[in-house]
Amino acid sequence: MYVILLGLPGAGKGTQAARLKAQTGLAHVTTGELFRENIRRGTELGRKAQPFVESGRLVPDEITIGMLLDRIRQPDCGRGCMLDGFPRNLEQARALDTALAADGKRIDKTVYIRVPTEELVGRLAGRWNCRGCGAVYHEVNQPPRAAGVCDNCGAQLYQREDDKPQVVRTRLQVNVEQLQPLLAHYRGQGKLLEIDGLRDVDAVTEDLGAVLAA
Ligand SMILES: [Zn+2]
Repeated sequence: MYVILLGLPGAGKGTQAARLKAQTGLAHVTTGELFRENIRRGTELGRKAQPFVESGRLVPDEITIGMLLDRIRQPDCGRGCMLDGFPRNLEQARALDTALAADGKRIDKTVYIRVPTEELVGRLAGRWNCRGCGAVYHEVNQPPRAAGVCDNCGAQLYQREDDKPQVVRTRLQVNVEQLQPLLAHYRGQGKLLEIDGLRDVDAVTEDLGAVLAA
């Protein structure tokens, strides 16, 4: 069974995939891992991807898809896998469909973990770091005892540029714009399953397990 996990940053895809892997035996395949592994092993695709990864540019789709096809042939994907981080846009989804079909495979299910954008801003933008010891706090989930002051060392806390609400909002908006056509694509194929990601982690895992087993 080949499953695509979709969700905006902060929706909990990584956490859920780790739990589902243990529960279902499906491997968790991320593009980050694909790039790292292929580069580490010095595969032909890894050598092609390396300059893109090192300069922070987008790795061309044919390279990423080639790595994916290799990866899902490996023994730990025998029961199938969950793809996380690819496809990111409609063009990649179409290219993946074509490549899988040529290999006699197809995506069986696409699961979208739905979390409202403002909730994600709260999750992603609440981080504060300590200048002194590097400790990380979260306004809601792990607040310091005194606002703006590190519990460990008493130094002042600061917010990274990337963790500021307006920056987070802009980044999420870009993701939303790419995600909508992807959702429509898989909905059109009758493969889209939506999960309410606003509840606690256990409830989300339970729902995901149920739709994957169905
Ligand atoms: Zn500190």
